[in-house]
Amino acid sequence: MPPPSPLSGIEPSRDCPLCPRLVALRHELRAAHPDWWNAPVPAFGDPRAWLAIVGLAPGVRGANSTGRPFTGDHAGDLLFATIAGFGLTRGRYAGTADDGLALDGAIILNAVKCLPPANKPDAAEIRACRPHLAEALAALSSVRIIVALGRIAHQSVVQALGGRPSQARFGHMAEHRLPGGRVLIDSYHCSRYNTNTGRLTPAMFEAVFARAVMLAP
Ligand code: SF4
Repeated sequence: MPPPSPLSGIEPSRDCPLCPRLVALRHELRAAHPDWWNAPVPAFGDPRAWLAIVGLAPGVRGANSTGRPFTGDHAGDLLFATIAGFGLTRGRYAGTADDGLALDGAIILNAVKCLPPANKPDAAEIRACRPHLAEALAALSSVRIIVALGRIAHQSVVQALGGRPSQARFGHMAEHRLPGGRVLIDSYHCSRYNTNTGRLTPAMFEAVFARAVMLAP
């Protein structure tokens, strides 16, 4: 079981019905892998975080299996190793939801909380889950900096905070001032595809969080 969500009062139910395609996949995987989480993945981290990290959606053998964002797959290996270098973790990441890892000053959210087929949520699913992201960001009043991992997370954050996508174009290391005075920093997603192709190197990823720490309140 993953640790309790720091936003437990506003998380969607395990059976959130809003995205029929994702619900169908959820049911299929519940039958095939009853030991997996197979439900919307809750937030993980510090409720008083100054930094929010927003990913795309759960990976099939990562968060969809373990129930904790970025836990159990390649993307998590790089993310947790990187943020540990900036003192944002406590304990050792071991790829399971019960490894005792905690976050200090950071929280991890996803633009889409359920597993999408082929890691690709469609536009309606992104739109349907955006109110959950907006509600989470509204509840996290201490968050000043947001790191968006990939273009879809970037667009969802901008819209969730009332910004206009046309005025905040995605670009690795691009920074955007958002309504409410928060700063959004973009990064390529730390997926295996991006790291294998060299689109994102560990040094490039570190630079994103170094910048976030530099801007920290
Ligand atoms: S992706 Fe979000 S809105 Fe869609 S079913 Fe899952 S929790 Fe509900």
